[in-house]
Parts: sequence; structure tokens; C-alpha cells
Amino acid sequence: MSSPIFLCAICNVSSGSCSEDCKFCTQSIHHNADIKRYKNKPVELIVTEAKQARANGATGFCLVTAGKGLSDKKVEFIAKAAYQIRQEVPELENIIACNGTATLEQLKELKRAGVNAYNHNLESSKEFYPHICNTHSWDERFLTCINVKEAGLNLLSGGIFGLGESEEDRESFIASLKELEPKTIPLNFFHPNPALPLKVAPLDIDTALSLITRVRKQIPNAMKIMVAGGRQFTFKHRQNEIFEAGANAIVIGDYLTTSGSGAKADIEMITSLGLKLAKNCHG
Ligand code: SF4
Repeated sequence: MSSPIFLCAICNVSSGSCSEDCKFCTQSIHHNADIKRYKNKPVELIVTEAKQARANGATGFCLVTAGKGLSDKKVEFIAKAAYQIRQEVPELENIIACNGTATLEQLKELKRAGVNAYNHNLESSKEFYPHICNTHSWDERFLTCINVKEAGLNLLSGGIFGLGESEEDRESFIASLKELEPKTIPLNFFHPNPALPLKVAPLDIDTALSLITRVRKQIPNAMKIMVAGGRQFTFKHRQNEIFEAGANAIVIGDYLTTSGSGAKADIEMITSLGLKLAKNCHG
């Protein structure tokens, strides 16, 4: 019997105005992209989105903030939101925080509030990273991932393909992920935007599918390989092939600054393939 497909929804808690210069990200203040910018969505709205996500079948709900990393104020806000979700949506098992670089203490505090997983992507290989970001280092990212595990949180860590990285970079990136042993590996595929300084030809669908397979094969113990941002843009009419390629999780609903297909269409795609949806975090 094939493995069930996990659904995860994203809540963009705080959007845009990030001081960092990641060349692939529209939330960087360096690129002036035409996106919504706001600080801290009201907690009631976050809880409403969590309820909707669960009603759509999501087992994971990810609280994302733009910015380099956690501050004490940010920890306090995310902790408050997570606590409230635990109170009002107890059937939503997996509350994930995704708030950039973080210390062990900050992560422990989030855990105490009810967060049980933290997403921090390596993004790409250590060697390629200086080509896509100059305001912080890949080593800082790796360290946060170590902190996540030490804090007793489940680690989600992956990255983004299609930034102009070489085959060697991909190999090195996957090897680093393997070293971290994340429970979930989110794979994003670069979605171009005219405001971004990064101008690269999009990945062809076969290459993108083969990258999912490569990650799955090289890190067989990861519980979930999750296709996240750039799914619709990259895979187009062949999105249904991502599961055969090795993915067993997707992000439903909208991404951080781009629109998704809508939960209904995604669920129809999955069930039409004869695949089952995961009912909880374990399957
Ligand atoms: S990827 Fe994260 S750190 Fe980089 S610009 Fe975007 S929000 Fe900021």
C-alpha cells in the first residue's frame, strides 16, 4: 500500500521588509518587489487560518515570519499564537515555526508554548550559498538546524532548486541535509519575479522530478519529502507526477507571496491518483 500524502498549510504571520538580501526572495527589502508587507497578523486571524487549514485536511500548520531570525519579541508573539492554536484547534497536531536563525533558548521557549517542529532551510550547498546571499552565512543556518534538534523539536530542513546551482552543488546540498537527518525535507523550486536580481532559466519538469527522486533515494529515512513553493510554476500539468517521483507531502493553499491552486484542487489531484490523505502526523 502506498504511503499517505501529508498536507501542510503556511501562515505568513509577518510579510516582507526583510533586511537580508537573498536573491531568490521577494520579501527582501533589497529587491523592492510588489508584495504585501505587514507585521504580525492578529492572533485571532492566525487561529482562524489554522482552523481552516485543519478543515482542509492539513496535519501541519507553519507560522512563518520574514526576517533573519528570532528576536525576544518575535518569540513572544509566535509562542502566543502557538499556544492559542493548541487551545482552539487541538486536533491540529503539528505546529511548525519558521522564523529564521534561532538560539537554543529561543527554540526551547517555543517548544514550551506548544510548537513541536521548526523549519529552517539550508537553501542550497555551502559552496553556492555566497552566490545567493551575502548578509548571513550558510554556517549560521546549519547551526540553527542543530539547535532545533537539541531543543527537542522536529527539524524541517530543505531548500530551493533552480537558482543556477551546479550538479556538484546539488550533491553537496543533499549530503548536508543527510547529515542533519531532518524529519521533513521541504523542497522549493525557484519562482522567478521581475524584481529579483536572479535571472535563471526555469528547471525543466523532468529535471525537477529527478531532483525529488534523488533526495528521496539519498535520504530514505526522512519521514516526509514535501514539495513546497514553486510547485505550480515548475511542474505545471505534471504536478501529479511528484508523488511517483518520491514526494509524500505538499503545501496546500497559498505560499508566502505567491498563490497556490486551492486546497480543493490539490486534494482532488491526490485522490484521483488513488492516493490517500494522511489523517494525522503519523499517517
Ligand atoms: S529567504 Fe528569509 S532571510 Fe532571505 S530575504 Fe527571504 S525572508 Fe529574508
